[in-house]
Amino acid sequence: MKRILIIEDELTLCEKLAQALRQEGMKVDTALDGESGLAKAQEKPPDLLLLDIMLPGLDGISICRILRRNEKTAQMPILMLTARGMEVDKIIGLETGADDYVVKPFALGELLARVRALLRRTREVSHGKREILEAAGIRLNQISRRCFRNGEELQLSNKEFNLLGELMRNPNVVLSRDLLLTKVWNYEYAGEREVRTVDVHIRRLRIKLEENPAKPKRIVTVRGVGYRFQDA
Ligand code: CA
Repeated sequence: MKRILIIEDELTLCEKLAQALRQEGMKVDTALDGESGLAKAQEKPPDLLLLDIMLPGLDGISICRILRRNEKTAQMPILMLTARGMEVDKIIGLETGADDYVVKPFALGELLARVRALLRRTREVSHGKREILEAAGIRLNQISRRCFRNGEELQLSNKEFNLLGELMRNPNVVLSRDLLLTKVWNYEYAGEREVRTVDVHIRRLRIKLEENPAKPKRIVTVRGVGYRFQDA
């Protein structure tokens, strides 16, 4: 049985979410403030964390950062509940390291779909695939989740790591943005905003990986199609 932890200070929303997830057959624990939520997440890391950003005291972004820094909780799938108008790139990017997000107010069905997708993706990753990917001077350890370029460690966000992993598993093959969204983000439908998310993450990866990010040699753009990892 999957264990979900919800950290959300709006009591009615928190209870509504807990009930819906229990009906899905999940075991749910809740916290109404940041401090107690973080303590619960650290004490017994859940299979997935539903984390509100705006919390009294310790906010969701701080919690996310703390969890990502600790080895025991670094891989915990985190789904952020955000307010309208927040910058998406910041939420899911380097600043927090969250895996996905939904914007309030959201439909319960949408949230449940995201939860299922995130749990499914985690299962796929833990079930094998090659542990270490190595090409073009880049070494990606999928167990320790560490990445090295010519022996030097690179700090990648969760999403950047997964995106690079997907590209490196398919060297010299063009992967479309839609495919990357399906594989890395588990989106079934990709709109303009989602497609832009891929580009943002590719840009960040290039800054970290490429000698000259303006003239990338490892992650190459294939105009009108997508991206390709160049293994040579
Ligand atoms: Ca809140």
